[in-house]
Amino acid sequence: MTQEFVQALSAAAMLEVWEEGAGRHPIDRALLFLQHACPEQPFEALCEWPVGRRDAHVLALRRHTIGDRIEAYAECPACRSGVEFELSCATLLASAVPVEAAIWTTVEQGSRIYELRGPNSRDLALAAEAADQEQARRTILSRCIRRGVGRDEVVAWVESDEDVLVERLGKLDPLAEVLIDLRCDLCGQPWQMLFDIVTFFWNELQTRSRRLLQEVDLLARTYGWTEGEVLRLSEPRRRMYVEMALA
Ligand SMILES: [Zn+2]
Repeated sequence: MTQEFVQALSAAAMLEVWEEGAGRHPIDRALLFLQHACPEQPFEALCEWPVGRRDAHVLALRRHTIGDRIEAYAECPACRSGVEFELSCATLLASAVPVEAAIWTTVEQGSRIYELRGPNSRDLALAAEAADQEQARRTILSRCIRRGVGRDEVVAWVESDEDVLVERLGKLDPLAEVLIDLRCDLCGQPWQMLFDIVTFFWNELQTRSRRLLQEVDLLARTYGWTEGEVLRLSEPRRRMYVEMALA
């Protein structure tokens, strides 16, 4: 994959994303991350990136901003005890090659020919407006599966082909759905958990933004610096001043 060069979010950019993303849908937050990860790309193009490519760039942004190691927590579905686990952004990125762009892949099923492409943020946004999960699923399938080759008009798939087509669709863009194998230490229950980097990074960003604002508040009151001046300090320097102000 031609991964764009992704830079870390600066302290100021982190607050910008946090402010703009508050109260927004996770799809909007994903696109906000993506805009910061790939500032050269027009927004319209980013909306059409397959979800796996989008999430690969969010992973890269998280890796450069916070670090490679992800420390996460899940609840055992059998006994409800907490399970802590670690992931690495680099390992996740290396485990699957995300598809480059929304390229239609031809699939033959019986005597019928279909074309499939991995869902993008626009498909997900439309699905999010659906009345229920089934309608959401159908919305995505109807946009990402078409019968025949190179046709733009919608020709529905044959119902009995649906399971095979859905399975193929999942394999087209492996990073679109990251499943982690977990096992409970207490009761031994194995299960698979869906890991969503956008939600995970968003939660981390919220915690960091709050702490950053507390640091700005403390340093502004102690030294009379402006918000901009505090945010321009490197993290180790800011930490040091915070320690001194609290001493
Ligand atoms: Zn358990």
